[in-house]
Amino acid sequence: MTTFILQYNSEAEINQTALTVQQTFKSGYTRSLKFRRHQLEQLWRLIDDNTDALCDALYKDLRKHKYEATLGELITAKEEINDALVHLDEWAKDERTTPSFVNRVGTTCIKRKEPKGAVLVIAPWNYPVYLAFTPLVGAIAAGCTAVLKPSEVTPHSAKLIAELVPLYLDNKAFMVVNGGVPETTQLLDHKWDHIFYTGNGTVAKIIMKAAAKHLTSLTLELGGKSPVIIDENANMTVAAKRIAFGKTFNAGQTCVAPDYILITAKAEEKFVPALKQAYLEMYGSDPQASKDYARIVNTRHFKRLCNILMENKSGDVVIGGQADENDLFIAPTVIANVERDDKLMEEEIFGPLLPLIRVTDIDDAIEYINSKDEPLVLYIFSTNKKLVNKVLDSTRSGGVLVNDTLMHVSESSLPFGGTGPSGMGSYHGKSSFDAFTHVRSTMIKGLSPVMESAMGLRYAPYTPRNLSV
Ligand code: NAD
Repeated sequence: MTTFILQYNSEAEINQTALTVQQTFKSGYTRSLKFRRHQLEQLWRLIDDNTDALCDALYKDLRKHKYEATLGELITAKEEINDALVHLDEWAKDERTTPSFVNRVGTTCIKRKEPKGAVLVIAPWNYPVYLAFTPLVGAIAAGCTAVLKPSEVTPHSAKLIAELVPLYLDNKAFMVVNGGVPETTQLLDHKWDHIFYTGNGTVAKIIMKAAAKHLTSLTLELGGKSPVIIDENANMTVAAKRIAFGKTFNAGQTCVAPDYILITAKAEEKFVPALKQAYLEMYGSDPQASKDYARIVNTRHFKRLCNILMENKSGDVVIGGQADENDLFIAPTVIANVERDDKLMEEEIFGPLLPLIRVTDIDDAIEYINSKDEPLVLYIFSTNKKLVNKVLDSTRSGGVLVNDTLMHVSESSLPFGGTGPSGMGSYHGKSSFDAFTHVRSTMIKGLSPVMESAMGLRYAPYTPRNLSV
């Protein structure tokens, strides 16, 4: 979308940044709840005061409509901050546990919630603001210091984030580094206390290798091909609208976008016209002219998507199919009757192309899902509880959403994350706090000599009296 050049941080700046946040953490400066609460409030203000500028950057990077940017990036991030502010005391407080029989007398057991330390947050380009700030909410709430590395693929957002963070957040505790692969590689050479990475599985392996060098813990928020099962009895009008929303929000460049649909031939007859109608209502007969429809992030991804479509041998384009490289526009496109081993079914699509795969029945759909990597989310459209439970009991995925798309991401009471190739660990709400927290098991014993008669049994010399216990 852009020829704008982002200023990258120098080697010396990167090293100094890593050192600063590490020293700040060691000083204990970020541990108090008062400090954390203030920083969370400041992050909220950063978003609120700069809504127009953030929306403008998102428009320049992805041609996101202001409404979509506000809904998908700003309100969602602010909600995470609100949730952390409401629950911080409860999340951070010590938890007492009941000692087991051996330690029952004279012992206090506590789970202390301690910040992991100085952490690195690496963000992707598809929701450049939300996916940079939401992990940061967890890091701040937990009492960590952090370096944030926005994606260089969306330079307007990355530049603005780097300008705003020092104006609102504590400069010694929360810092931004901008750069591409060499700069991120340099950051990864440092020893972090946790790394939170959102992006693709190939880079995740590089991150994991770098973390392994220092035995650093990781959260990996990745992607994959998230399937949709549509039951014949589902309300096709409602299902089509909700799927159209999930597939075209940010032009399908969403980690939890419905990647493909598993459907019987009978259900497809009703679903395709309903989907056509839904797209028509949302973007009109010429989606390129719609102000509401985002663009593909850059020429590389535009070409990647066009190649998938060209190299895909099977199926019929039943909706859309238009593309314009100068405008980085690809229409919402539906390809029916795609073969299971064709190009569209190889990698995560991450764009507005939607293949429909014919299945004979629910067992066939389940078998297909189980033949693939565990997806980030599994969507099921059905009002048949038995069928839904059967799918839940016989498949695996990071999360499940029944009868809607994307909305589970906004639910802070549920952990969000993948499993296997779709990710490791989770966040949102309390899970964000937990991701950056070390639960330090703390046992405190009394020193009373009275207890020694009972506790003395464990000391040598071992006599028949000890052994009879
Ligand atoms: P990206 O290209 O912006 O990369 C993500 C980050 O990794 C960037 O900050 C980038 O600088 C860094 N990076 C890239 N190559 C690197 C390397 N060789 N070494 C070190 N760092 C490197 O974004 P992307 O990976 O194209 O993002 C899209 C993917 O992310 C999709 O697979 C999508 O499903 C996934 N995703 C997952 C979630 C989630 O929450 N689970 C959210 C959004 C996106």
